[in-house]
Amino acid sequence: MLALPKQLKRLVILLPTLLLCSVLFPAQNALADTNVAASATTSASYTSPWESLAAINDGITPPSSNDTVNRRWGTWPNTGAQWAELTWAATQALKSAEVYFFDDGGGVRVPASWKLQSWTGSAYTDIPGTYPTALNGFNRVTFAAAVSTTRLRVVLQSGQGSVGLLEVRAFIADPPGGSGWSPPANLVTPLNEVWQHVESTYPNLYGFRNYGWDQIMANGGSINYCVRWDTTATVTAAQRDQIHATLARQFKKWMDLMAGHNGWPYASVPVKVVGWAVRDRAQLQWSDSSVDIYVGNIRENAPQCSEPCGRFFNQSGNYPNCPGGASHHYDMSLWLTAGFGGGAGGDWGQRIGSEYYMSNLNTDNVHILLHEMGHSFGLDDFYDWTPTGVCCFLMKAGSASSITDFDAWMFRDWWRHLKSRYGL
Ligand SMILES: [Zn+2]
Repeated sequence: MLALPKQLKRLVILLPTLLLCSVLFPAQNALADTNVAASATTSASYTSPWESLAAINDGITPPSSNDTVNRRWGTWPNTGAQWAELTWAATQALKSAEVYFFDDGGGVRVPASWKLQSWTGSAYTDIPGTYPTALNGFNRVTFAAAVSTTRLRVVLQSGQGSVGLLEVRAFIADPPGGSGWSPPANLVTPLNEVWQHVESTYPNLYGFRNYGWDQIMANGGSINYCVRWDTTATVTAAQRDQIHATLARQFKKWMDLMAGHNGWPYASVPVKVVGWAVRDRAQLQWSDSSVDIYVGNIRENAPQCSEPCGRFFNQSGNYPNCPGGASHHYDMSLWLTAGFGGGAGGDWGQRIGSEYYMSNLNTDNVHILLHEMGHSFGLDDFYDWTPTGVCCFLMKAGSASSITDFDAWMFRDWWRHLKSRYGL
């Protein structure tokens, strides 16, 4: 029997979106095209010191043009022609773009007019099109032909005040030759239902940047773990190595789904266990220095590895205060708790019972761990609904004990929607 504590998992996944939970969001964009704005760097003609240019590609859908909750880009008190720009490391074939205007009814107002420009390599050129100026929604411009460029500039001509933007989206078509996105026909409808559910449940899902995907990409194709040994049991060196091997074998089941798929850049993703956290050093019956050992560092009533080394605590991906440096950082924790039933998973790692784990070291599918790993990559629970036509799969707790085809395509769907943030 599985008793998966929903709140624990949701707590972590929802943290970055807590501020938005009470906000109503408009219907999701149904485009099949991919928004590549998040993978661009931003620049602007001017930014008021209390505003933030990062607003324009943070993936947050504003509640209205007079957004008093999220960060905003504005040029007050400057007027006239003002601009904000997205710059990519690689050329993008853009098909369309959308902007959401900032208008506070006072000093910052919707522009009198606006246009998009692309960079030709030596100059900016206007992109022909129809440029609406609606409030409280995205203003979309579809290009007559794909625009290949490394820079997209939004030029705003001020009207009754200064100008500003809350969000910019820039869309590319799927690459020639297809994306590798080819789920079986009977899974297309339930996959679409799942993604729509995810988008409506987690409004900041595109702004959040600590999924397992982000961690692997930041490392250049590997993942580092800390073992939180939340039990009074002892561990031999042989058990330590078995614990690592089991973890790596389960992680590989998810990663093998991605090898060669849709631009995923890694044939394999090595799992390193860089640290162990315990209450008492004497529990660990080895004397070699193959892993860092952290003793008596207690959080959530359980031992943890050093916070300056943890990705959860350093989401910039920099670890200046990690003893041993960035190579000793950990992205996730394998948190093994004595007497713990069920499991929990999130961007911080996975938590399951230590007895369950130790009694499944030779099990092919350690299904609770696999399920919780799914959460670390963004996959949701299915406590209160079931997608059309699929009965049984790993992420619907209790209905399957290994990764199914449907789990695999849900997993790949996360990559499909996030890959542009890595310029892929
Ligand atoms: Zn779950």
